[in-house]
Amino acid sequence: MDMDGVIVHEDQLIPGADRFIARVQEAGYPFLILTNNSTYTARDLAARLSQTGLNVPAEAIWTSALATARFLCEQRPEGTAFVIGEAGLTTALHEVGYTLSDRNPDYVVLGETRTYSFEQITRAVRLIEGGARFIATNPDPTGPSREGSLPATGSVAALVSKATGVDPYYVGKPNPLMMRSALRAIDAHSETTVMIGDRMDTDIVAGIEAGLETILVLSGITTRDAASRFPFLPGRIVDSVADLSEEIVVPGRPAGSSGTTPRRAGRDGDPGAGGRARRQVVA
Ligand SMILES: [Mg+2]
Repeated sequence: MDMDGVIVHEDQLIPGADRFIARVQEAGYPFLILTNNSTYTARDLAARLSQTGLNVPAEAIWTSALATARFLCEQRPEGTAFVIGEAGLTTALHEVGYTLSDRNPDYVVLGETRTYSFEQITRAVRLIEGGARFIATNPDPTGPSREGSLPATGSVAALVSKATGVDPYYVGKPNPLMMRSALRAIDAHSETTVMIGDRMDTDIVAGIEAGLETILVLSGITTRDAASRFPFLPGRIVDSVADLSEEIVVPGRPAGSSGTTPRRAGRDGDPGAGGRARRQVVA
């Protein structure tokens, strides 16, 4: 599932999201909470979620920074990168064996940061002119804040592109690569996985292109009316993840072992529309 607009609104929990996640965990379904924001490490984000009252392990969070690091490691193991970004990105690159360098790096990697400097952007431009490959964690032009929009990675990438004539390769949503790397992170398969998101133009299209079932929630950006104008459809539309909690059954678990989940007559033992009961959730 996507994070912002699905589980939280910035630092506010979406009502019922805690119960939904608890049910998914109780049922034992592997799941990931996705974000295109590359600022924070998964551990930072787990701590931020816990402040909203939602307890998930860092391993349940997948960011565009982690997807970017995994992609670069597969493409060019133990490579070098000049990075404009925060700890979320630099930590992810270090963890896959990358070295950060401003001398003839394999890549210029641009991520989310609040401290872009003219000097750093100039350095990135010159390295790309010199042959470094241009990667950006996510194409989002703006991000949310309490005070209003913030220019985000996509906007700074546009600046660098204008200066160099080189477009970046974006790893985050809507690139289905983000979905595929998430699936691999939890050893899941597209045909038994559902993507839950609040945006048609990122979450749902990426889910469809990666071969996942898709559910659009109306607790974030996209309205039902706006959704109907897209040339593709989500599998389902619900108001929020709160509506999905009751549908999650705990297959094959002896009664009482989980403590709180009532067995639901009617859904229990129903193999479901897809034929098989077990579904993973990439949210
Ligand atoms: Mg969202």
